[in-house]
Amino acid sequence: MDQPTTASGPADLVVTGGRVWTQDPARPWAEALAVRDGRIVAVGSAAEAATTAGPGTEVHQLAGELVMPGLVDGHVHLNLGGSQAAFELPLLPTDGLDGILAKVRDWAGRLGPDEWVVGGIIGSTTMDGITDAAALVRLDEAAGGRPVLLRDDSMHNRWVSSRALQLMKVGQDTPDPDGGSYVRDDSGRLTGVLHELASAVAEGAFAASLPDLAAGVRTAVRTAVGILNGFGVTAAQEAATMAGAAQALADLEAAGELTARVVLSTPVRPFIEEGTVGEELITAVAPLRGDLVRPDFVKVVLDGVPMTRTTALLAPYRCSHGEEPQTVESLWTLEDLVAQLERCTELGLGAKLHATGDASVRRVLDAAERLRAAHGPGIRLQIAHTEYVHPDDVPRFAAFDVVADLSPYIWYPSVIQESIAAQVPAEIVEGSWPVRDLVAAGAVVAAGSDWPCAAPTPDPWTGLQTLVTRRNPDPAVPGALNAGQALTLAEAVSAFTTNPAQAMGLWDVVGRLAVGYAADFIVLDRDLFGIDVAEIHRTQVLRTYFAGTVVHENAGVRPGEART
Ligand SMILES: [Zn+2]
Repeated sequence: MDQPTTASGPADLVVTGGRVWTQDPARPWAEALAVRDGRIVAVGSAAEAATTAGPGTEVHQLAGELVMPGLVDGHVHLNLGGSQAAFELPLLPTDGLDGILAKVRDWAGRLGPDEWVVGGIIGSTTMDGITDAAALVRLDEAAGGRPVLLRDDSMHNRWVSSRALQLMKVGQDTPDPDGGSYVRDDSGRLTGVLHELASAVAEGAFAASLPDLAAGVRTAVRTAVGILNGFGVTAAQEAATMAGAAQALADLEAAGELTARVVLSTPVRPFIEEGTVGEELITAVAPLRGDLVRPDFVKVVLDGVPMTRTTALLAPYRCSHGEEPQTVESLWTLEDLVAQLERCTELGLGAKLHATGDASVRRVLDAAERLRAAHGPGIRLQIAHTEYVHPDDVPRFAAFDVVADLSPYIWYPSVIQESIAAQVPAEIVEGSWPVRDLVAAGAVVAAGSDWPCAAPTPDPWTGLQTLVTRRNPDPAVPGALNAGQALTLAEAVSAFTTNPAQAMGLWDVVGRLAVGYAADFIVLDRDLFGIDVAEIHRTQVLRTYFAGTVVHENAGVRPGEART
């Protein structure tokens, strides 16, 4: 037993008879946990845990199921993901244009004449195929003239209908907004496709149509957290938090309805979601800080996504139709970035830095090098995505104390990798997700779903499995992606527990089952450490405990009747 119970009384809850993976190197395995006031007061054998119980103690008897810390999602978009799940037309990245139009037609038929059809996600390959105004005419027809807003798998781009363009006040002669474009066909006609910050104009027009935006955001965020709990996730870093989502999370916490610990990341410059950013937003969210909601990070976006060639790479993009070799600059100069990080240091805020390309990764590391030289260790820095890292830069993560936020869970062959490979030079794709090298070089690697970007769900089990296999769980998709970079299962589990907890500043709260830690843990229907790794993606979470309370229970399977 780590520690006996104290004078403050018996445990509220004892969970016993399990195989408890603690993620605590001092005591990796145990049989039982005792909980009081939402915290773990004992971890040990069944006999030891029993000594903490009193007459009022609830006892949950397990039949040997695996218990482990609640998972931590280091990068997720709660409002976007939750809105999608709660309100929106579900599209799959594998749906082609005809399939999308059929789904839009069906969905629109249930709406009033002026209601928006909002949905996603469209695969980037499908999006790339929408190149002329004829497709827009078909979209208008399918939607019965309604405004339509469809998001792509990168979440950076949109496809909208003519009615939506009207509501956005975008016409044939409207100039492109800064940092984005209203895509036109060869004859100059709008296609309805919106790249990057043009998407914010569409999101703004849609938001303006909603009668009670705050209630909608609250429903979205609550839905998202419920979905995370169902997958066994009990803590997350919200990766780009606007004022509405921050307020919704704070409201849920105040009402005692928030069932995850959430670290916020507020954008410092205009972002794809409309709204206040920068210092004004930082000031607005600071008072929302609670035990569960922590506005401790800013979000800095250095580039876009590889599918639309907005990722800043060190090498030129692939040339397909005899164009000039094309490179993209990071959106931040080194000087501006250092100044921003200096400001974060003054404010005591960490920074989550979106850098999908190896050039942007290098820029962040250059800025981190200067910051650490000036201040020594200080604010937390995370590079979000880190799929392409130049080999020379791998050791610099540990050297300058920068976390690799591995997101989304796409380190295996898939549709999205195909659309990336059409743009990014083969040698860069072949070296992608250098996770093994990062770990070997001492970097902290933290997994994040980036849901709903690139993934229809925030399913961590597929992510965990594929960190180890680098293969698509679907045997129909052959091959492995840069297989030499596979992690061991233990390393992968750390990337979903202790590592993101550390990256988010919750290292002494979550990610581990030890005395004093939050009683956030999960009961699984299979023993991750005793099964074929290729089965991990089938894992069902039987129960999710948050602060010692059951917040998810799998109706189909109960503890004691684990699926085989
Ligand atoms: Zn993201």
